[in-house]
Amino acid sequence: MSLLDVRNLTVTYPGGAAAVRGVDLRLDAGRKLGLAGESGCGKSTLALALLRLLPSGTRVTGEVLLDGEDVLTMKWGRVRAVRWAGASVVFQGAMHSLNAVHRIGDQIAEPILLHRKATPAGAKKKTGELLEQVGLPAARADAYPHELSGGQRQRVMIAMALACDPRLIIADEPTTALDVMIQAQILRLIEQLVADQDLGLIMISHDLAVLADTCDRLAVMYAGRVVEEGPARQVYEDARHPYARALSAAFPRIGDPASRFAPQGLAGDPPDPAALPSGCTFHPRCPVALETCPEEDPALRAAGPERRAACVLVGPRPDEGPSAETPAAQGDRPAEDPEALEEARPSTP
Ligand code: SF4
Repeated sequence: MSLLDVRNLTVTYPGGAAAVRGVDLRLDAGRKLGLAGESGCGKSTLALALLRLLPSGTRVTGEVLLDGEDVLTMKWGRVRAVRWAGASVVFQGAMHSLNAVHRIGDQIAEPILLHRKATPAGAKKKTGELLEQVGLPAARADAYPHELSGGQRQRVMIAMALACDPRLIIADEPTTALDVMIQAQILRLIEQLVADQDLGLIMISHDLAVLADTCDRLAVMYAGRVVEEGPARQVYEDARHPYARALSAAFPRIGDPASRFAPQGLAGDPPDPAALPSGCTFHPRCPVALETCPEEDPALRAAGPERRAACVLVGPRPDEGPSAETPAAQGDRPAEDPEALEEARPSTP
């Protein structure tokens, strides 16, 4: 049984905005899944839906099985127990997420007191241990958020997320606004904690390079759907879906002499979730769209071993051998068209 098994998750905000559409994801303990996409593609909404943290009136359907229990149908008392102890969130922007007028030790201790029913002395001891675990002296528990650097505050957020020994951590842009040196330290810390404690990790970012470096698998979202999913390095270095390719090309490859340092952009904006384009929702921006793309919304399907993509042009390559769901097995689906997709790959000088 997987630690997390998300099935056909759909989130619709009041007013009809379809923020997440039919997402399937699986994650085992000790594994790290990256969720990538532009702002507004649905990745943060998906993360909040996993723990039922969305505003009332939001319609959420599907299944979110955490250790086999469906979070979406739990009674509220059980949901409160699952938050923190089953899964917890590292929110982006530590300065805004921490309470400016409370000492960080008190903020870390609060869920331990509430959810673990610890004594004040026990919660204080655990708080000190958590701070040391994330590389801060236990004595910093007496500090207020403004007395810490950005990197230290982010470490405090991670300590808070670990307060009740969760099985799953959801990290939403955990390194946004940090400089690259601190970013690397925080990422290594998260990796170490996942390995040491056999946690599952979902890391959300628009930065494909960070996710490729940190995660085992990578799911790229567009307009509320996963459009490509597979081993993180493979998706980053050899994306199949035209949108995932464009996202990958938006980052400079300093170590790659064949790549242009100036990153490539993608024209246009993500669609309004309340007024999605017909057919493949990426077609208004897709550089290789076919005439039929405004009518056909391709399902996520096999795009090679352990890889899936949602594009009519993408299938397993001839040298990748049979997979669980080959175009042949699907009957009328085309194999990958390398020439058409090559046109979508940004040129190098
Ligand atoms: Fe582009 Fe069509 Fe593939 Fe969508 S289905 S990504 S529009 S080629």
